[in-house]
Parts: sequence; structure tokens; C-alpha cells
Amino acid sequence: MPILWLSDVDKNDIPVVGGKAANLGELLRIEIPVPEGFVVDARTFKDFINRANLKDKIYSILQNLNVENTEELNRVSEEIRRMISKAKMPEDVEKEIRRAYKELGNGKDVYVAVRSSATAEDLPDASFAGQQDTYLNVKGEEEVVNKVKECWGSLFTPRAIYYRVQKGFRHEDVSIAIVVQKMVNSEKSGVMFTSHPVTGEKVCIIEAVFGLGEAIVGGLVTPDTYVYDRLKKKLVEVKIAEKKFMIVRKNGNDKVELGERGKERVLSDLEIKRLVDLGEIIEEHYGKPQDVEWAIEGGEVYIVQSRPVTTIKTKEEKIEVEETGKILLKGLGASPGIAVGEVRIVQSEKDISKVKEGDILVAVMTTPDMVPAMKRSAAIVTDEGGMTCHAAIVSRELGVPAVVGTKNATDVLKDGMVVTVDGEKGIVYLGRLEVSKKEEAKATPISAPIITATEVKVNISLPDAAEKVARETNADGVGLFRIEHMVLSLDKHPMKFIKDGEIDKYVELIYNEMKKVLKAFYPKPVWIRTIDAPTDEFRAMEGGEDEPVEANPMLGFRGIRRDLAEEMHLRAEMRAIKRLIDEGYTNVGIMLPLIVSPEEIRRAKSVAIEEGIPLEKIDFGIMVETPAAALIIEDLIKEGIDFISLGTNDLTQYTLAVDRNNENVAYLYDETHPAVMKLIERTIKICKEHGVKTSICGQAGSYPHVVEKLVEMGIDSVSANPDMVHKIREVVARAERRIILEKLRNLR
Ligand code: PEP
Ligand code: MG
Repeated sequence: MPILWLSDVDKNDIPVVGGKAANLGELLRIEIPVPEGFVVDARTFKDFINRANLKDKIYSILQNLNVENTEELNRVSEEIRRMISKAKMPEDVEKEIRRAYKELGNGKDVYVAVRSSATAEDLPDASFAGQQDTYLNVKGEEEVVNKVKECWGSLFTPRAIYYRVQKGFRHEDVSIAIVVQKMVNSEKSGVMFTSHPVTGEKVCIIEAVFGLGEAIVGGLVTPDTYVYDRLKKKLVEVKIAEKKFMIVRKNGNDKVELGERGKERVLSDLEIKRLVDLGEIIEEHYGKPQDVEWAIEGGEVYIVQSRPVTTIKTKEEKIEVEETGKILLKGLGASPGIAVGEVRIVQSEKDISKVKEGDILVAVMTTPDMVPAMKRSAAIVTDEGGMTCHAAIVSRELGVPAVVGTKNATDVLKDGMVVTVDGEKGIVYLGRLEVSKKEEAKATPISAPIITATEVKVNISLPDAAEKVARETNADGVGLFRIEHMVLSLDKHPMKFIKDGEIDKYVELIYNEMKKVLKAFYPKPVWIRTIDAPTDEFRAMEGGEDEPVEANPMLGFRGIRRDLAEEMHLRAEMRAIKRLIDEGYTNVGIMLPLIVSPEEIRRAKSVAIEEGIPLEKIDFGIMVETPAAALIIEDLIKEGIDFISLGTNDLTQYTLAVDRNNENVAYLYDETHPAVMKLIERTIKICKEHGVKTSICGQAGSYPHVVEKLVEMGIDSVSANPDMVHKIREVVARAERRIILEKLRNLR
């Protein structure tokens, strides 16, 4: 019997109906108002692939798959999903689904949600939440049957396959049940944590929007927030957000502008009380704080889903070196982690083949040519550089420990020497040291994503790492895509392509790389920065011999000034971006570096327009990374920009006259120097007055103490290094809550 009604299932049925359906059944049993529905159980899927002769095919393809090879992963995923969608659903199963759907609507066609619920028979506690597809607003027997099949296929999305391999699940052990549930046509909806998701305190946190809840889940609308203290039995925080639109169900999901109504409070005290009461019953039933989705239709509150907030306090492993070894070198801990391996000194790109898997790559400074070897290495150590040098940025993106700016690693370390590198503390020890694993209590909510009003984005420079970064950070977009790393790793100098009459080839090359990032993050925004590399970095490329030799490249021919002087290069970038927009990647944004005058924006804009970029469709903005830009920001805004992003790396070096790559003056380099902070504060304030979005993509956006201040100043988004996104999200959430609390206290 493939169909089970929700009201007939409970937690004992998890192996066959999955956690989601079992939970809903449990809730119905304790008389929580849950929309009715049925489940196509997990055995039905197994039976389907057996009867369609797909079982052996699917699992043998998966057996040979290397999930780290993204292209292969995508190809295999597509192939399996195609096989499933082409295969015919067994007639008896289809008949049963049609019958149950009719019964659910009392003979009428009703709107339903078709949700996947993956399940591992022998591992009832395994969590696959959010891995598979859900379809909303499905109507009609035919559509329901189709969507059930699509949900089956979603057991093999690249993300789901990757996740199972990472977690050590055998694909064969996992199956999928499908929940078909009546949709509430919500006037209001949202989410609720029955207790605080991080501290576990007995405060109920509710987020609410008008219309359907997809607006919250997709992060499209900032919801109202209500905090109800369950011990004091009173509402302690109300934050009314401006909700620009709501999503309603018409033919599909439609956006409706809310205008003035968007400023109104969504929930009445009575509705909040009803939600809290239901939340308390659910929490008590499960004996654990819950993360609940709810909806209100015709004044009735419905609970659509409930899952535990699993880790109020979890243990995290902290790796530490037992500090008994001889310290060989000290530098800046640029990418956390500890590694032991044999030293390989790399003088130039010619040496990179000597770096084998697990070696320690040591160089004066890394270059884009060295990236393949950086990927193989267990750790990276350099003589030069600060927190924003090539080695630091790339190693963080690759997740490889790194120590930079040691001054003389290439002298002190010798090929073949065994060393231990501590990328957190910035120390290189002689020999293989004991590494102790300490368990540290750490508060991290797992099922509950931290939702912040300030967006938390990520910086990217390696297109090949984009998909992994997107998956692991779940960032709200890319606040800085530094394209120079990918350009510098091409065979020849960009202007040489152009001089050789190969501009189309160059456009094609950068378009392909850009696309990887846009695709990985789609539909989240990706701000592509036009090229910004100093002349000394271009010189090593074929055709780079003509690069001017500059006494101080940091103050030289770089950023937008270079792209305007070599206008064909700017045009090439715009052509690549235009192709992406034409393909529907309107999540792209353009960001101009090192702006010092309105003229530069004006000229770059006209090139963009001449190349056919529809500026009305995408974000167009600038970096504020010179004191000049911060001081004349009003004039820059007049040129028509959608956003600014604070480049604190350059802003600090230019304000304090401290070369950011010069270790001799590194002790003076301080992003929180009052002069830098004043420029930042002024920029944010004036941009806010003019409705220009503000962001930060300099290294300071990864520093909790700076980010706290920026949130107080009202910054709209923060773009952090990949390794810091989760931490920064916590910092932002805490800062936002503190601000709300302080405001409330002042009101009393
Ligand atoms: C900055 O200057 O802060 C910045 C983000 O740009 P880059 O580090 O690439 O110069
Ligand atoms: Mg910069």
C-alpha cells in the first residue's frame, strides 16, 4: 500500500515515511491544526526503480563518481534524473495517488504542496533536511503525479549526492517519501523558534510576513520580528519591518506590492499568543525546542512544519599544537588549520610540479600560476604579504592553512624538511608535532538558519571554488568577485590578446569563468569587480614585458584608471557580462575599483551602455577605497550608482600611508584607526540618505569587532572571507538583536 494518510502515521513510521511526514502525523495526534495530506511512502520509490530496471544503473554510475569533480557530479546527477523522469510510474501507484488526491479535495482539484522527505531505513535519525525538492501550488491529478516523480528525482541533485558522500551514507541506504499536503492560502505566514535557537532560553521568536511564507524562506522580504518571553508571559520585542511586497497565490506565485500597508504590523497580540501556545504544546510533546513554520488563513492558525532545533549546545573539535616544538618562523596566521608535511620551496611556476599532495608549499609570494600546487598542498608559507595578499585570499578560499609575511621562510626552510604549520597562530614549527584535539562547547543552531536583516555575503576569487563556497557558506551572494586572479592565470596578458586581434577569445575565456560563479550562486547577487591588479603582478605573464616599472605599484596604474586608459579591456569585460545577462544571469552586478572622481564613473558607465549592458536590470556600483571617494561621495552618488562597497584594505593603506604589503610598517596598519572609521561612517551615512546600498568587501568585513560597528552604522551587507561567513553571520545576528533591545529599552 503506497499511500498513508498523515493522520495515520507517527514517529514509528519514520523509516518509511521520513521525518517530515512522521512529525506532521504526530502533531495531528496532539490536535495541532495541520493541513491534511497523504504520503507516498519510501518503499514505493524503491519499488519504482526496481520495476523500471533503474536500480543497478543508478547505483553503478554513482559508485564510480568523484563528487569533488563538479562537472562530473552535475553530469551524473542530470543523467540519473533524466532516467527517472523518462521512466513510467507503475500504474497501480499512479492510480492510488490520483485517488488519494481526489479524496483530499473531496472530489475537487485543490492546491497542494508536494514535498520530499528523504529517509534512511536503518538510520532513523539521519537528517537530510532541505536536500531535496519541494513544489508548492500544485493542482490537478496529472501535475501531482508529475511532481511526485520529480521529487523522486531530487534524491539525486548534485547537492544531495555530495551531502551523502560527505556524511558517509551509502546511496543505496537512502530512499525518499513524498508528502502531498493541502496548501494554506495564507494571509500571513512565517517561522517560529519555540525557544531561543542559540542560547536555549525560553523566549519564543516569531518572524512574520503578509502572504505566503516563501518570501521569508527565500530571503526576499524582511519580516517583522516578535520576541515573546515565555517565563514572564509577555511580548518583549516587536520589530516592524518595511515589507515591500507579499507573495500570493494566483496562477502560480505572484508578487504584490504592499505600499503603505507594508509598514503595518503583521501579527496582533492575540495571534502571537495563539502561536506561542501552539509552540509550547509542540515543544513539550517533543521535549525539545522546535523550529516551526506556520500560516494563517481566515483567522485560523495552521502549523505547516515543525523540526527540532537540534544543537542548542554542540561540541566542536578544536585542533591545537602541543607547543613543545622548536619555533622556526612566525608570521601572520592567514588561513586557519594545522598541517604537517615536507617543505617544497617554489621559486616560480616552473617548480610547481615538485609540490605533491600533502606537501608544504613555501614561496616568497604565491602567484595565480601556483594555484594548482596550492590546491595539492597541506599548508602554505610565504615570506611576504599581509592578510589580503594572494596567498592569504586563495588559501582561505581553498581551506588550506597558511602563514604569510614570515620575512624569510624561503631561507630558513629547506626542501624536504618536515614542519608543522599552525595557520591560526601564524607559527611554523620544526618537525612533526603532536596535535591535540580539544572538544569545545559551542553554540550553533543546525536546523535553524540564522536569519539576519543585514546580508552576509562572501568574497570569491577562484571560480572553480565557487560551488563549494556557495554550498558550505550558504552566503547571501558574492560581495566581491576579484576577477584578476582568474585573468592572471590565463596564458597571456589580457592586452596581448587584444593586440593580437583575439579579443573575442579573451571575452570567451573570462565569460566562462564568470559564469561558474554566477551559476553557483544563482539567483543570489554576484558583484563582479572590473580588473584591479597592480603592474608588478601583470609583468610575469606572456606579453607582460611592456608593463611599466613603477616605484610604488599600489599608487600606480591599477583599478579603474587602468581600465579607462586601456578601454578595450573594459569593453571586453562588459561584453562577457552582457553575454551573461542575455542568458538570464541578471544576478550579476558591476563594481568599479579605486574610484577617485565622478568622471571615472561617467566614462565607465558609457562604455557599459555602449556595449549594451541594460543598467536598469542589474546593480552598478563602486568601491569606496580611497579617501577621495569617501570625501566626495555625494558627487559620486550623483553619477547614478546602486551601491558602494567599502574596500578597507586600500582605504586603510591610503589613509594611513601604510603600504598594505610591507611588513616593516604592518604594525601601523589598523582598519579601526579613527581616521578610517570616520571616512566609513561618513560614507555609510550619506549613502543611506540617498538610498544607495552600502556594503564592505575589505578584510575588515571578516573582523567581528569591525562588523559589529558597521551593523550599528546601518550597513546593508557585509562580504566576508569564505572561512568567516558563519562566524560573521552570528556576529551580525547578535549585533542586530542588541540594537533592537537597546531601542526597546530606551522606549520604556
Ligand atoms: C580592498 O581594497 O579592501 C579590496 C577589497 O580590494 P583589494 O583587496 O582587491 O584591493
Ligand atoms: Mg582594493
